[in-house]
Amino acid sequence: MNRGVGVSRGIAIGKALVYQSRVIKPTHRMITVTEVDDEKTRILRAVTRTQEYLNQILARQGDEESVARDLIEVQLEIAEDPALLNKANEYVEVSLIEAGDALLRATDDIAAQFESLEVAYYRDRAADIRDVGTRLAAQAFGVELVDLSHLNEPVIVFAEDITPSEAATMDTRNVLALVTELGSETSHTAILSKTLQIPAIVGVRPDRVRSGQNVALDGVTGELVVEPNPDEIAIFEQRQARFNEDRERVQNLRGLPAVSLDGVSVELAINIAHPHEAAAIHEVGAGGVGLFRTEFIFMDLPKAPTEEEQFYSYKTAVEQADGKPVIIRTLDAGGDKGIPYLAIPEEQNPFLGYRAIRVCLDKPDLFKDQLRAILRASAFGDVRIMFPMIGALSQLKRSLALLEECKSQLRVEGHAFDEDLKVGIMVEIPAVAAAAEIFAPHVQFFSIGTNDLCQYTLAVDRTNAKIADLYSHYNPGVLRLIKHTIDVAKQYGVKVGMCGEMAGNASAAPLLMGLGLEEFSMSPASIPYVKDKIRGLSMEQAARITETVLKMDSATAIKEYLEKKS
Ligand code: PEP
Ligand code: MG
Repeated sequence: MNRGVGVSRGIAIGKALVYQSRVIKPTHRMITVTEVDDEKTRILRAVTRTQEYLNQILARQGDEESVARDLIEVQLEIAEDPALLNKANEYVEVSLIEAGDALLRATDDIAAQFESLEVAYYRDRAADIRDVGTRLAAQAFGVELVDLSHLNEPVIVFAEDITPSEAATMDTRNVLALVTELGSETSHTAILSKTLQIPAIVGVRPDRVRSGQNVALDGVTGELVVEPNPDEIAIFEQRQARFNEDRERVQNLRGLPAVSLDGVSVELAINIAHPHEAAAIHEVGAGGVGLFRTEFIFMDLPKAPTEEEQFYSYKTAVEQADGKPVIIRTLDAGGDKGIPYLAIPEEQNPFLGYRAIRVCLDKPDLFKDQLRAILRASAFGDVRIMFPMIGALSQLKRSLALLEECKSQLRVEGHAFDEDLKVGIMVEIPAVAAAAEIFAPHVQFFSIGTNDLCQYTLAVDRTNAKIADLYSHYNPGVLRLIKHTIDVAKQYGVKVGMCGEMAGNASAAPLLMGLGLEEFSMSPASIPYVKDKIRGLSMEQAARITETVLKMDSATAIKEYLEKKS
């Protein structure tokens, strides 16, 4: 038995698929003149097969316009370009290198030419050209590229890491579970797994298993068995049945309010990454969207979405919410959410670097497109806007000034928007939590982002499985920052919610209720479990639990105590 860290609940039993991220490296092997013709034939075959493959995928897309369809069409155009074929052949003849290397070099050269162009659209094509180069070279080297967006059968995916964009485009019908070496409970891949309700474990090396082997796993305990015997399969099947029963029980609470035994209500909201996910509000019985992570609509495209495209996305989310509030967070790029066309530089410490509001304030045109789109969507429902990674009052003031500038422009242009649109900030940098009173007079709400608040307070990278045991939202230092933020919010009449993963942890609910948290926002799948916990508790009990927790001196003791109370 192997054990990792369970990050998304659920039991899976099925076949493993070991996924190699698509990095194909040149071999640098020199060939002799007699091999030139063979290598050129190999180039032609790689190009033809890649075209066939892309055409097949295109045919499976149907006729509707979609981001995926656009991307494949662009890739096909590149693969069909005769200039690419000529350049690769030339490399084989002149530099005497093998077909795969020649294709990588040829696509690299063309990509570099595009990168040097003035027009952003052409610069953005460079990433597509390199992607096609990888496909072509893989064909020439005879390496099979597994494409997670098109799987033929249900599998449990094992990988060193899955990027958020790979996770977002995954063929979710066929992914039974995810197992990665890297990542943690709050890495964006784990968060997406929860949203998609796919069991997931991190901290397990992919070489523990070979593709095709049978595997059973538990996304809560992190247990993983390769080639389970019949007794072990029976155990996992029993757990699966219990999991399903429990899920059914809490799902029956859908139409009931999140109210404590003594009648105190709290708001439960959902975190989403794509506009259509807002519909889950009604499926799980939530009060609205507490966090719309808009960066995912930027990640799915080859270039930044225009104001119009964004307006359409936000309006869709608002319509799906059907009158319920939607908190739209402005772009939180960077950290582990890379967006190629934003040219975020390679950094030593990306989570401490050029990220979120820092990028937006540095690129005001990009920021204003988004602000205008959000404002325009506010004419269609209850929209609120939230700035991520605010670390200084000057950043908040500059963001508010840009928002006002956009409002003035829209008024002149005759576009409708909500003049009373509420504005809030994520409280996720310790300096802000510790000095919440500086920020409170300028906003209508706070949303505590425990995922980042923990990593910055504890100096523990949220994506590093090796030090995952040091990362805990129950750390007494973290809890004091949360308490201070909530206390200040109450004092200033600022609404206070939480949208980090802690809010979706049912064991933490009594503590958060006792601290006075007003809104809990989480992946839709967690709503029934948290609601169940809140409905089984009085505020008096919650206050007592909180008092006890605040006297405790370690995250381990607090976790144990709260889980025992569950
Ligand atoms: C957080 O940091 O807690 C949060 C909700 O934001 P994200 O996970 O998107 O960084
Ligand atoms: Mg964050």
